[in-house]
Amino acid sequence: MSALLTIAAEPVAEFLPVSRTQADGDVVKFCQRTHDGYEIESVIIPMGARDNTWRTLCVSSQIGCARGCTFCQTAQMGLLRNLSVEEIIGQVRAAREHFGATVRNLVFMGMGEPMDNLDNVIESIRRLHDDNANQIPRRRVTVSTVGRCEGIRKLAALGWRRLNLAVSLNAPNDEIRSQIMPINRVEPMAMLREAIASYPVRAGGHVLIEYVLIKGVNDQPEHARQLAEYLAGLSTCVNLIPYNPRENSPYEAPTEAASDEFQTILMQSGQLAFRRWPKGQSAMAACGQLGNLALRRGATS
Ligand code: SF4
Repeated sequence: MSALLTIAAEPVAEFLPVSRTQADGDVVKFCQRTHDGYEIESVIIPMGARDNTWRTLCVSSQIGCARGCTFCQTAQMGLLRNLSVEEIIGQVRAAREHFGATVRNLVFMGMGEPMDNLDNVIESIRRLHDDNANQIPRRRVTVSTVGRCEGIRKLAALGWRRLNLAVSLNAPNDEIRSQIMPINRVEPMAMLREAIASYPVRAGGHVLIEYVLIKGVNDQPEHARQLAEYLAGLSTCVNLIPYNPRENSPYEAPTEAASDEFQTILMQSGQLAFRRWPKGQSAMAACGQLGNLALRRGATS
């Protein structure tokens, strides 16, 4: 464990020791054991920069998650608790100090719904932005939400114009979204669209729309057309993520051809769209695959 780090005028407690590491090529998933016996999971992802040294760090904001998305490994755990500010920042420190990673970007896309722990997420971002020695500027931070409209508005009200927002959408219409994402039953897509439209993006910037492609569920050509229609008029960029089947998953990965066609339809309609290479798949470090199910069963020792 390393010495105290001073962030602005606020000393931050030592980061938790790294208890487990799993690597898949350059992608590294690591866990830190908390004082109450849980594990915080984070993923270090290469950015593909010219010198291949920069990294994006995917951090967790909670242990588990209450939102119950049916395709998500973390959802199987349920919500165990929120992470503290120190535990969130500690993930950055562990990536830098334990693994020597040059963390350039920070994404809140690990375990948990950041809007359900928003005060601690905001304070973490503020401290990291203000930290002279270990700064991560807000323009390099992305907060990803399942679509909690009030949280999006609260972030917008901070006036942090350069903080990036990502929305985990994953469906082209309310019928499908309500089946795979329970949040949609209380905050349907029309409401979410208004919240996205109200979020201030910098000139030339976008709200990132994450869309996990699941075979036979949301990956058909008519779904791509509906999605393009839903997003028309918004400043968005769609990140298509082929589903990574987890253990005992009821869902399958989309075919290469279906993913290609989906992307083509979006782009032909004028919607920016790219496909994320499923880095970290074998390390169970890819999207929707964080979460230690043993914790759900109480085996925390
Ligand atoms: S996808 Fe995100 S919001 Fe949904 S259950 Fe998983 S961690 Fe929670």
